[in-house]
Amino acid sequence: MGYQVTFGVLQAGHYGVPQTRRRLIILAAAPGFVLPNYPEPAHVFSKRGCQLAVQVAEHKYNNGCNWIMSAPYRTITVRDAMSDLPNIKNGCNRKEMPYDSEPMSCFQRQMRGSGDTSEILRDHICKEMAPLVEARMSYIPLAPGSDWRDLPNMVKFYCWRDLPNMVCRLSDGTYTNKLRYPYRSKKQAKNEPNRGVCQCATGKGGCDSSDRQFNTIIPWCLPHTADRHNHWSGLYGRLEWNGFFSTTVTNPEPMGKQGRVLHPDQHRVVSVRECARSQGFPDRYQFSGNILDKHRQVGNAVPPPLGAALGREIKKALIASFNKF
Ligand SMILES: [Zn+2]
Repeated sequence: MGYQVTFGVLQAGHYGVPQTRRRLIILAAAPGFVLPNYPEPAHVFSKRGCQLAVQVAEHKYNNGCNWIMSAPYRTITVRDAMSDLPNIKNGCNRKEMPYDSEPMSCFQRQMRGSGDTSEILRDHICKEMAPLVEARMSYIPLAPGSDWRDLPNMVKFYCWRDLPNMVCRLSDGTYTNKLRYPYRSKKQAKNEPNRGVCQCATGKGGCDSSDRQFNTIIPWCLPHTADRHNHWSGLYGRLEWNGFFSTTVTNPEPMGKQGRVLHPDQHRVVSVRECARSQGFPDRYQFSGNILDKHRQVGNAVPPPLGAALGREIKKALIASFNKF
C-alpha cells in the first residue's frame, strides 16, 4: 500500500525514567509523508538489548535508530525518583497524605509540579503482605544487592527458647519453623554442611512431596531449585538508592521473577506512587480502582516521558510533511 515503516527497540531509561524498560516501537507514514525519526537518548543508559535486526526473505533490515554513544543527562536513580516520599508501613492504605518534605531533585520537582508541600500526595499505598512475608522482608539487609540469600534461618533476636527450634514470632502471634536440610546435594563440597531440602538434590530420585516445608523464613522452594535458576537472584531483592528499577510490573511480588520490588530501606514492597514515579507519571495523575487495578494501570503503561519523546518526533515529521506539500 506504499506505507513506509521503520522499527526500533527503545530503552525508556534513555528518556528520563529511573527504570530499564525496552519496548519495540514501530513507526509508519502514509505515502508522501515524512517518516519520523526515533528520539535520540537524552539520558545515559545501557544500550544493551536495543540492537535488533530482522531478516525478511533475502533482505536484512537493521533497526532505524541512530544511536549516539553519549547523552546530555545522567541516569535517573531511585533516589532522584522517590527520596521525597514519606515513610510508610507494609499494607499502608492511606490514599491521601501530605508530602512531608520539599522535592530533593529535579525529577521530583517535575513530578510534583508546583512543589508546594501543602499539596496532597495520592496513592502512596502499598500491598499488604502476609505476616510471614512481612517478617522475611524485615530480615533483608539494607545493603545494595541484598536478596533472599541473606535471610537468616535462625532468628536470634526473636527466638522463643521454649520451642524445639529457634523460630521467629510473626505479627499475627504465630511462629515460623526452621528450615531443615536433610539431604546432601550432589553439587556440594565434602566438608560443607548439607545443602539439600528435597531428595531430588541428591540426584537419586525425583521430588518427594513429603519433603516440602512450610512457614519458614527461608522459603523452601528457593533452595529447592536454586541450582537450576541462577540461585533465584533478586527474589526478595531491595531496590538500590543509586540504582534504577527493573521493568515496573503490574503486580509487585517479592517472589516474582520480574525483579527487585522491596523499598531500599523500608520493610515493604514499593507503593503505587513509587511505581508511577518509576514510569515518569507526574503526581497529579490519578489511577482508579483497587490497589491491584492501580498497579496494573501503572505497570502496563508506556512511560509518559518516552511517549512524549516519540510525540515530539512525530510532530517534527508532520511539520516537515506539510512544508513539503
Ligand atoms: Zn525436589
